[in-house]
Amino acid sequence: MIPVNEPLLNGNERQYLLECIDSGWISSEGPFVKKFEEMVSCYVGLKHGVAVCNGTAALEVAVSAIYLKPGEEVIMPTFTIISCALAVLRRGGIPVLVDVEPDTWCMDINQVKDKITSKTRAIMPVHMYGHPVDMDPIMELAEKHKLYVIEDAAEAYGAEYKGRKCGSMGHINCFSFYANKIITTGEGGMVVTNDDKLAERARLHRNLCFKEGRRFYHEELGGNYRMTNLQAAVGVAQMERGEEFVEIKRKNGAIYNRLLADVDLIQKPAEKEWAKNVYWMYGIVLDENSRFNAEGFASRLKEKGIGTRPFFLGMHEQPVFHNMGLFKTEQYPVAERIARQGLYLPSGLTLTEKQITIAVEAVTDVIEKG
Ligand SMILES: *Cc1c(COP(=O)(O)O)cnc(C)c1O
Repeated sequence: MIPVNEPLLNGNERQYLLECIDSGWISSEGPFVKKFEEMVSCYVGLKHGVAVCNGTAALEVAVSAIYLKPGEEVIMPTFTIISCALAVLRRGGIPVLVDVEPDTWCMDINQVKDKITSKTRAIMPVHMYGHPVDMDPIMELAEKHKLYVIEDAAEAYGAEYKGRKCGSMGHINCFSFYANKIITTGEGGMVVTNDDKLAERARLHRNLCFKEGRRFYHEELGGNYRMTNLQAAVGVAQMERGEEFVEIKRKNGAIYNRLLADVDLIQKPAEKEWAKNVYWMYGIVLDENSRFNAEGFASRLKEKGIGTRPFFLGMHEQPVFHNMGLFKTEQYPVAERIARQGLYLPSGLTLTEKQITIAVEAVTDVIEKG
């Protein structure tokens, strides 16, 4: 079986973990946490990094940092992970959805403008599967309407928009370090920002809103979203090889692109002229004229030993939100189509060219012979 993902942990991970254990520093107070924060914030070129326990927590902390109030709206793509909507709902805010572009699978900028109301507080672009969102128009809209931009760069470590790093362009931005992300700490996340106030509020909300100088006194409800020194130790070792990992992803993406170039009925990932795609996951969308939807295709590939994962199902199609009276009558045709026709192929950092070749042969075989 060629797994859809496998992390690469053969750098200094083991040594740094042993240092944690030998020194007794295993909680969030240990020295690797600060070091990891510095490495990630420095990488994207921002002043502050606030490490948290996962990417979902990073989004929640970011939304808390901007003081989102009940009833305020945050515009986001329907085609994303539930964490984006959750972060807004937890504070009583309202997620407002837009469709995605058919080629980049990122939020459709043209639809954002029409969804801005007097209640809008923020826009949350999500860089999808390693391809950046077209950020300039988003930043322009945000400036014009005095909105915050919260980038979700969980899938786009190392990706670039017009030479700028994903996770560096919004006011406050989020990363995930889950095991399938480009840099991993097993579970983990980070909020990055240039804004001193937002960073201070992110730190407050990460740590139960303990007040500085008066520990057991609270003016707001926070959470315990702290990252441990153990996680950060792995993160530091991973960051030492960050560029190498990005290059591996890009190289694997290029091999897939080359081998799939002449295969009909399969849409491949885009790379716009202004984009550096890091091919976090190598996604494909099956033409509706092929005999397959993603589910049927995935089970045929599984029989051939190829691991895959389906694309996201849009937020507007989630029963949990319908039951809350949200998005019930909304339709987003691109998200609906790619949710049914899209899947991603093995994309781990340990993947060999041979394995990619085998995966592509299986894909071609199923497309041609059924
Ligand atoms: C993985 C991911 C998250 C959530 O990260 P976790 O660490 O799993 O909580 C958020 N947004 C996007 C786009 C992701 O891919």
